[in-house]
Amino acid sequence: MRNPAAENLLEFIGKSPSCYHAVENIRRALLEAGYRELREWEPWQLREGGRYFTARNDSSILAFRVPARDFPGFQMAAAHSDAPTFKLKENPELADAHYLRLNTEPYGGMLMASWFDRPLSVAGRVMVREEDRIAQKLVALDRDLLMIPSVAIHMNREVNDGFKYLANVDLVPLLGGPESGGKLSAMIAEAAGVRAEDVLGSDLFLYNRQPGVFLGASEEFIASPKLDDLECAYGILRGFLTAQESRSVPVCVIFDNEEVGSLTKQGADSTFLADTLRRICSSLGRTEEEYRMALAQSFLVSADNAHAQHPNHPEYADSRNCPYMNGGVVVKYNANQHYTTDAVSSALFREVCLKAGVPVQTFANRSDMRGGSTLGNISNAQVSVNTVDIGLAQLAMHSSFETAGALDPEYLVRAMGAYYAGSIRRREDGEYLL
Ligand code: ZN
Repeated sequence: MRNPAAENLLEFIGKSPSCYHAVENIRRALLEAGYRELREWEPWQLREGGRYFTARNDSSILAFRVPARDFPGFQMAAAHSDAPTFKLKENPELADAHYLRLNTEPYGGMLMASWFDRPLSVAGRVMVREEDRIAQKLVALDRDLLMIPSVAIHMNREVNDGFKYLANVDLVPLLGGPESGGKLSAMIAEAAGVRAEDVLGSDLFLYNRQPGVFLGASEEFIASPKLDDLECAYGILRGFLTAQESRSVPVCVIFDNEEVGSLTKQGADSTFLADTLRRICSSLGRTEEEYRMALAQSFLVSADNAHAQHPNHPEYADSRNCPYMNGGVVVKYNANQHYTTDAVSSALFREVCLKAGVPVQTFANRSDMRGGSTLGNISNAQVSVNTVDIGLAQLAMHSSFETAGALDPEYLVRAMGAYYAGSIRRREDGEYLL
């Protein structure tokens, strides 16, 4: 039988062709669960027992509950809403006598080969003129629209010996014939419900049209676009929504722009998290010192997918710290602190998983490889708390179609449900209580 959490995850990803759509779907789930939206430009009046969320740039979103005025700290988890893709440039039409192609640039570090020879389309947001105001509209052209065709083997017999892809030459998507001029902007305007001349600005990205699937002899795997990191976004959100009440303030935050370094107004390197935590405290009548005291009793789970050992290339993995798909939640370690996990955060988080009956695996880079980085250490520069880096094991990270374990989403939901029900506190002698 197909795992229901994995099915729900694939449905969520299918409805999230851009980070704006992912955040809109999270917003809807929160509203459905009785959460109230707080706007950053309005005053906040929080009450005990209240459930709230706030968004920044409509591409990052943060939800929290207020258990009581005297909460000890924040029980937080973070994931990211964005994924590597190609962004449409301004003036995207590249026309010649026979073809009309689209001018794009890479967003993040993708596996370029995975974008060839498959139906693609366009999704994101546009800003439109509406009478006396400028409004945002989400658009997703729900049709097979674009193709990035490979060069035939007959024209480059050496291609299978290794090829350097150039984004401006090899990865330019084909929209149509020479008569296609103006059609993309017409489609975008129609999707937004406005005239083409009323579209004033846009953040539009390519997306892979292939829907997520179950695969494997026993359907033990899933494959889909954007498993990094919507799989973790889904897992921490479901855990947050289904958890028993905690004494601390549970916080679930999904950041944009992880794939391009997080240094934006809404990324993990912004003030979004710090501003929100501070406002929660001040709205509940807490002093700056009490805010600092709360941070010292807070914890962050930085959730971003991990590399499963590759079936064809086991040599790239560390021999002892190599996770596998369907093996449970992965705790990531790095001596240079690209992952934040240390003895304290590892011990506390593993204990939560153990109590929840969720298996834990470990990941470390092979010692001669630098590996990737993620949200945890970046967020720690803004809000410095005990942090553990975790994820779920997957293959082909940053492909336009990635593979993961069908059982793992449920493991993460269960682990996060247990985590959010807890409250990590310090005692007078410095020991930690779960
Ligand atoms: Zn990621």
